Amino acid sequence: MAEPNRTVEGRCSGCGVAVQSENKGALGYVPASALERRPIICQRCFRMKHYNEASSVTPDQGEFLRMLNEVGNTDSLVVHITDIFDFEGSLIGGLQRFVGSNEVVLVVNKIDLLPPGTNPNRIRNWVQKRAKEEGLRTVEVALVSAKRGTGFERLVEAIEEHRRGRDVFIVGATNVGKSSLVNRLIADYSDLDAEVTVSSYPGTTLDLIRIPLDDGSNVIDTPGIVYESRLTELVPKEYLGMIVPHKPVKPATYQLDSAQTLFFGALARFDFVEGAHQSFTCYVSPSLTIHRTKLERADALYASHAGELLQPPRKEDIDALPPFAKHRFRIKPGTDTDIYISGLGWIRAHGETGAIVDVHAPKGVKAIIRDALI
Ligand code: GDP
Repeated sequence: MAEPNRTVEGRCSGCGVAVQSENKGALGYVPASALERRPIICQRCFRMKHYNEASSVTPDQGEFLRMLNEVGNTDSLVVHITDIFDFEGSLIGGLQRFVGSNEVVLVVNKIDLLPPGTNPNRIRNWVQKRAKEEGLRTVEVALVSAKRGTGFERLVEAIEEHRRGRDVFIVGATNVGKSSLVNRLIADYSDLDAEVTVSSYPGTTLDLIRIPLDDGSNVIDTPGIVYESRLTELVPKEYLGMIVPHKPVKPATYQLDSAQTLFFGALARFDFVEGAHQSFTCYVSPSLTIHRTKLERADALYASHAGELLQPPRKEDIDALPPFAKHRFRIKPGTDTDIYISGLGWIRAHGETGAIVDVHAPKGVKAIIRDALI
């Protein structure tokens, strides 16, 4: 959004565009009745403001699953938003079971974080395959960036094609960019004259946000579910800026001998336990320092330097995280695999000859081996 321009007469105090009350579909629309209000704010900014304020409540798991179950009792299209940087951590487990026979459009957000030149078709195929392995049938996979505004035309087309006049439920975990995405959909897609409303889900504290469409059906945004298997939900909020990348990730390749270790700040540790000399490529936030050491020294280094040389987090926050748990993975020769740590990123093994690796990550954080994304 443009810099707010609060002082210029005749301009929106939110986005700065010139206001007008003639064309509802055009930028800067303000209903004639609201033109005299000060500060003046265009309908689109009014919605975004209203919407953001309304979407701050997060549900507990039980309420959330009950709500999903109810979605399964309606005849609607489900739009599930996930995050490409934390795909398995943001996928709602068992979604298919809850939504029953309703069709699912799988939206993969934040594709702007993938390195430039990444082949979108490969990503789409990978997502489709992974979703299927996780038990989710999808009628469409849409790759988007709510930040950049890419992929929206196709997403709106896909929603139109598959909803066939029915309501659309939007579901997702927290931090996948659901509000950013729905804000864009509101701006791009809904009947601009309609009123966005917030209602409570019956019998719960969950807020549903209802965005009416031209044909009398609605887009219904459900609250984001919190998954504590993601590192991003466990670290104190002030460190998120270092863990979640803001620009495309720059792959960092390390040539390792067995019995070498990589530390990702003090947040996780990767041990190359056994195997011939080979390379591993790390896809993590560029703000995160990777520290290489010998495996035999790794425990002592962590004990003496966690929170100092190994940061984030800082020393006073080390205890805010659960202690490390160890996960062992066998990388088969000739396979292209990632060792993925939910919320942190992944380490791509090139494994011509196979390897045994250990990941140490705060207890509860999901760590898995998967087919390589890139
Ligand atoms: P919600 O919790 O799912 O509603 O997510 P938000 O819309 O509040 O976004 C969570 C975080 O992800 C914010 O820091 C956003 O700036 C960021 N974000 C949202 N969409 C994108 C995107 O397309 N790309 C990138 N890189 N970041 C995004």
